Amino acid sequence: MTASQGVALLGSTGSIGTSTLRVLERHRDRFHPVALTANGNVTALATQVAAWSPSYVGVVSGTPPAGSGWRAGVECLIEAATHPDAQIVLNAVVGAAGLQATLAALAAGKRVALANKETLVVAGPVVMAAATAGHGTLVPVDSEHSAILQCLAGRNPGDIRRLVITASGGPFRTWPAERIAHATVADALNHPTWRMGSKITIDSATLANKALEVIEAHYLFGVPYDRIDVVVHPQSIVHSFVEFTDGSVLAQLGVPSMELPILYALTHPERLPDSGVPRFDPITAGSLAFEPVRHDAFPALGLGIAAGRTGGAAPAVFNAANEEAVAAFLAGRLTFGQVAERIADALEDLAGRPGSTLEELLDADAAARHHVQSRLSC
Ligand code: MG
Repeated sequence: MTASQGVALLGSTGSIGTSTLRVLERHRDRFHPVALTANGNVTALATQVAAWSPSYVGVVSGTPPAGSGWRAGVECLIEAATHPDAQIVLNAVVGAAGLQATLAALAAGKRVALANKETLVVAGPVVMAAATAGHGTLVPVDSEHSAILQCLAGRNPGDIRRLVITASGGPFRTWPAERIAHATVADALNHPTWRMGSKITIDSATLANKALEVIEAHYLFGVPYDRIDVVVHPQSIVHSFVEFTDGSVLAQLGVPSMELPILYALTHPERLPDSGVPRFDPITAGSLAFEPVRHDAFPALGLGIAAGRTGGAAPAVFNAANEEAVAAFLAGRLTFGQVAERIADALEDLAGRPGSTLEELLDADAAARHHVQSRLSC
């Protein structure tokens, strides 16, 4: 009988956070939340706190209810991530704000179940070094990386020839490039297979999300960029492939639900029964299609992979420029087509900045945000 493990859940009111609480509900004998943090949704957080009674509660940008004892401000992420009763930190914070919490948790020797992909994109080498130094472990929550981790379990990393990351293609998979450039916010938020928060949904429409995932895979699995490919797979059933040196290819399949990769991130390399996810049936799934990426129609993907190859500050610049451009698109201040253009402009001016220390990477992040914001018309 394994003792119940404490989980610090950062970003508990978002899409991954609420899915995580559903997973914990099914496995109350194995896991219990000791800390919950939310960005600003105080009402939803209060409901979760009433249901789970965690010993630590934090809100980043909202006002805690009077007399609640909750912590307020961005420091709550680090306090929750280093909570002494948490063995596992599930980091589902959106954006680069999640980086410091990941670093603190790894330094404290925690298992970090990482749903904050910006962590590795902004500071991959720094994060991997922190994991080694602090004896923390990093386990991906993202469905593609969970698939690769599951295909690799128990295998020799030297046997990997190639990773093939699948992409749904998003809502504009079949649209002509001219039409994509003028897509509306409502068009872009209408993802065909996954229900997610608005930032990642826009990233899935531009394919910037897939660039972030390629960079993450590079750091998580130590595979060079020329051996990581992306293929469009509209059904989102095959979550990724690993090709081995003898030519054999393994894939991980399942219905599109984040609950399975969340559970696996908590239990890896073990598996628990009753994931709560509908069973996969190949007959019901029907035909599975695979298509090449239309790089001309989705330039953000190539920009992000090129930034990954450049290394140094470039991935941080890509990520920050993308975050700001997506926020501006959602606010009606940029067209869909301008999102990739503003990322390209920021990379051209800033990708060569120094980027080997955390301080330099955070400076590059700030410079890229300023670059995009200062060029928005008022
Ligand atoms: Mg993904």
